[in-house]
Formats: sequence, structure tokens, C-alpha cells
Amino acid sequence: MTDQDCIFCKIIAGDIPSAKVYEDEHVYAFLDISQVTKGHTLIIPKDHVKDIFELPEETAANLYRAVPGVAKALNKAFEPNGLNVLNNNKKPAGQSVFHYHLHLLPRYGKEDGFQ
Ligand code: 5GP
Ligand code: ZN
Repeated sequence: MTDQDCIFCKIIAGDIPSAKVYEDEHVYAFLDISQVTKGHTLIIPKDHVKDIFELPEETAANLYRAVPGVAKALNKAFEPNGLNVLNNNKKPAGQSVFHYHLHLLPRYGKEDGFQ
């Protein structure tokens, strides 16, 4: 289940290069091209699903199962002081890539510009 016009499907297929953080049968995680904070990572299901309103429970379960491990890997690699998990659904909510994804944002404190 891929969408040939979707950049995240192309990243999963390896047609667009990405900095891989984690991969399993169901999930791919990679550094966001625009690093809002150091280590900003996107975690996506391998199935093309537009947003949370189309996300099957099984796909959600497979995706979220991987989240704690990716968060721990980011903690180890970047040593932040905190971490946000964020998700935008549909354009008015800030979604710009219409393949469901979670943002994992390591947080460092004042210096990351968000306090
Ligand atoms: P959204 O705004 O949909 O929640 O987030 C989409 C994210 O995808 C943005 O943070 C944007 O920087 C990231 N992004 C868009 N195109 C690419 C790409 O080709 N490679 C990577 N690694 N990230 C991308
Ligand atoms: Zn896709």
C-alpha cells in the first residue's frame, strides 16, 4: 500500500535518501530534513495512510510499539532533557506531508528556542 506521489513512500522505498534512525517490518524512522531541534525525527508506518482519521488500529499499534525504543535511541544519541511527540492532521492543523507521521522532538531547554 504505497502512493507513488508521496514523498514519504519514496523515502521508505529508498528512492529519496534519508538518515535512517530505525526500521522494522511495519515502521520507518528518519531525521526530519528541517531539524526544529537537534535529533528531530519522524516515525511513519510503511503503509500509506493520510492522517489519523484513516489510520487503522492495527497500523497505529504497530507504529506506537516502536515509539519508546526510538525515543530511547534519541535520548542516548543526543542527550536531550526532554522529548515531545507531536502529530499534525490535515492542512489547517499544520500537516504538510499527507502520510501519517509522528514528530519526535528532543528538547534541550532554553537554548532550543521553545521556552
Ligand atoms: P508535517 O508538517 O506534515 O507535520 O511535517 C512534515 C515534515 O516532513 C516537516 O517537518 C518537513 O521538514 C519534513 N519533510 C518534508 N520533506 C522531507 C524530506 O524529503 N525528507 C525528510 N527527511 N523530511 C522531510
Ligand atoms: Zn505515503
